[in-house]
Parts: sequence; structure tokens; C-alpha cells
Amino acid sequence: MALFKRPEPSHPFWLPAETSLIEGVRWLIKLRWLAIAGVMFALLVGIRFLHLPLYWQGILAIALALVFFNLIYWAIFRERFEEGERSGQTYAFATFFAHLQISLDLILLTLLLYFSGGALNPFSFFYIFHIIIASILLKRADSYFQAGWALLLYSMLVFLSASERVPHYPLYPDFNLENFYRPDQIFLLIGAFAITMFVSAFLSSSIMERLRQREEELAQACEEVSRREKIKSEFARTVAHELRSPMSAIMNFIHAVRLSEKDRLSEKSLEFLERALQRGQGLIDLIRDLLELSRLEVAEPPKPEELEEIDLIAELELILSVEKTSADARGVAVYFNHPPVLPRIRYSRAAIQQIFSNLISNAFRYTPAGGVVRIELSREDGRIKAQVSDSGIGIPKEALGRIFSEFYRAPNAKQFSPIGTGLGLSITKTLIDRYGGKIYVDSEEGKGTTFTIYFDISPRSGIRRAG
Ligand code: ADP
Repeated sequence: MALFKRPEPSHPFWLPAETSLIEGVRWLIKLRWLAIAGVMFALLVGIRFLHLPLYWQGILAIALALVFFNLIYWAIFRERFEEGERSGQTYAFATFFAHLQISLDLILLTLLLYFSGGALNPFSFFYIFHIIIASILLKRADSYFQAGWALLLYSMLVFLSASERVPHYPLYPDFNLENFYRPDQIFLLIGAFAITMFVSAFLSSSIMERLRQREEELAQACEEVSRREKIKSEFARTVAHELRSPMSAIMNFIHAVRLSEKDRLSEKSLEFLERALQRGQGLIDLIRDLLELSRLEVAEPPKPEELEEIDLIAELELILSVEKTSADARGVAVYFNHPPVLPRIRYSRAAIQQIFSNLISNAFRYTPAGGVVRIELSREDGRIKAQVSDSGIGIPKEALGRIFSEFYRAPNAKQFSPIGTGLGLSITKTLIDRYGGKIYVDSEEGKGTTFTIYFDISPRSGIRRAG
């Protein structure tokens, strides 16, 4: 019944968090800080360790210009995209904004190269990154535009590097540039550059187009699945609801027959009635759990008025007073350990009752006679730790990862206690996810099980309970 959740991107810094243009623009601004750090680092290494005759004043000025522009970009981004509705106009502006940034970056890269060896600088390859970035953010035609712009700037760089009339900042002064910048060589260089830029634009925008299409298909499929999930939950809720009243009536009739006809019925018939009651109770439990789960699935996020300041010690004492009778009947010893006082937690009372009733009744149910169930409350790292442990049948290793899934029951549990819905833990987990906290399970088959839950202490907790 659980709804699908889209996975979070694992490296939001290296790639945009989403394929949407606005997220892409945010990412580009973030990435530029990295590029600025890279320029400063390269300058330091070039001068200090490689002893290159770099025109550091020019390079530094460009790094500062990048910082200045990036601050302006950031301010514009916050002003235009961070808040408010995103209309068609916003997206048109975002396209222009991305174009502007990439075009200016290409100009600054060209100047950087000019001040550090011209077209012979091996960092000329960095033009490709801008084309890939353009393909990630923009449409195919836009990335061809940027490829053309990069080609124009690179050609200018080559002509500046080859020209006699402008100052030169060679990386290797003893290198014979005259031989290198021959017309045929220049033609080859620019030709190869043009092919590289346009092929990069073609390849990366093709990949992006395919990715966007897949993403759209996936989003549609997700929507369809959620829609079906909703219909299914609605159906399950209706069925469960419709079954509840007749089932309760059937149980009442069987009860009545068993009581009124007790003396006239044979042992065998009474046993059949007893078994019918047991199976009926199983069905009623299933209906109750199904209704609870489907109610939680469609529930709105918790409202502040649903939460109360809860004293876990008092709440658990209350739950134990109800549940303990089943432990006594089974010959299971119960211990409840807690410090005399504990801060309160801010939680839903109904949820607390459900969570602990599930865990404690499971502990009783899956512990053979003579076993022990311990409930412990303590403070740990500024939180409240609640543990329900038993010396029962335990959970097989291979089942541990599945016990919180709906309808799952481990084979040893089915054998030990044939009646069970496999929904209790899934409700417990859903409630904890909904109202806050963390649940962990630790178990060894044949030895016992411990469920641990951590709750945050209520910020308003000042009321303490005397022990
Ligand atoms: P149910 O108990 O009705 O089967 P739950 O959702 O409460 O459903 O539990 C799911 C499964 O987790 C159980 O069927 C059982 O395999 C395992 N489990 C839960 N609590 C315990 C426990 N205290 N000891 C052993 N197994 C447990």
C-alpha cells in the first residue's frame, strides 16, 4: 500500500538536483564558486611550483570579476526564483539568465587563456565543459548556439595569440610560436575545435533529451501508480468497513449460542464454536489493522492540536495494565524499568498507545511460557529511549529486513502463532514516521527480540513526574 517516493539525487553538488532549468541555474552558480577556487589554486601552483611566467595581475582580475559576477547572479537568483510562483515568464527569464552566464563565462575563460599562454594553454579544453553545461540546462538549439559562441571566441584567441600587434603572455617563452601559428596549422586547430564543440553539444544534448523524456515517463508512471494506490486503498477501506459490522454481529451470535446452548451442545460442537470465535477474532483484527493503515495513508500531515505533552511512564503503565493479563495467562514474566522521572515528549497519545500496544502484545505473543518481557525507558543523548525486549522465538536473520512490510510474517512466527495479520509493525513504523522518532530491531532466532525507539524530548518539557 505504500506510495512511491522519488529517490533523492546522491550528489547534488556535482550535478543539478533536478533536471529543471531553475535548479540547473542554482547549480551553475554553486559550481562557479568551485571554478573560482580552481583558478586561484592553478595560479598558485603555476607561480609557486611550476615557476611559470604567468601574468598574475590579469588572471587575478578575472577571478575577481568571476566572484563579482557570481555574487550578482546569486542576488538575481534569490530575487527572481527563490520565492513566488514560477510562471512561463520565469522560465523564459531563466533561459536568458543561463545563456547570459554561460556566454560571460566563455568570455572570461577566453581572457584567462589569453593571459596564460593563449591557444596553446592546455586548459583550452575547458570550453567543452561549458558546452556540456549548456546542454544540461538548455535545449539542443541553445547548446549549438553556445558551441558557435565558443568557436568564435576561440578563433579570436587563436588570432590574438598569432597576431604581432597585441601583447603576448606565453607559458613557455622559448617555444617557437612562429612555426606553430602557420595558416594551415591555425585552420586545423580551429577546424578541430569546431568539430569538438558541435559534437559535444550534439552528444550531450541527445543524452539530456533522452533523460528528460525518461524522467517525464517515470513521473507519469509514478502519478499513475499513486492514483491506483489511492483507488486500491479506498477499495480496501470500503471493504474493511463493510465487513466490520456483519463480522461483529456473527461473533456476537456465536458468543450467544455458546453461552445459551452450553449444556445442550456436545464437546465437539463447543470446540468448533471456540475455533470459529478464534478465527473470527483474527478477521476482526485484520479489518481493524487494514482500516488503520488505509486511514494513515490518506491522512493529512499531523496538526499541532493532535500532539500532546506525553508522560511515557504513565502511558506505558496504562498500556501494561491492559496487556498484562495476556502475559499472565501465558505464564510470561513482565518487568517495567524506568528512572523515577523522565521529560515528556510531544506526541499523539493515540499513536503512542498503538505503537506500544503493538510491540508489547507481539512480545507476549511470540514468547513461550516461562519467558521474560522487559520494557525499559531511559534517557540517551538528549532523547528518550524506549525498549521492548523479550526472550521469545526471535526473528530469523533473513526476515529482519521485511518485518515492517505490510502482511509479512516470518515463517517461525506463523508456526508459533498461526493467527496474525502482519500489519501491526507496519502501522507502528508508519506512526513513528508520521509523528517523529526512530525504530530499530535487534533479534536472534530462538533467543529473543528487542525493539528500540528513540523519541525527541518536548522542547516545552518542564513537567516531571515524581517516581
Ligand atoms: P503479526 O504479529 O500480526 O504477524 P506484525 O506486523 O506485528 O504482525 O509483525 C510482523 C512480523 O514480525 C511477525 O509476524 C513476526 O514474524 C515478527 N515479529 C514481530 N514482533 C516479534 C517478536 N517480538 N518476536 C518475534 N517475532 C516478531
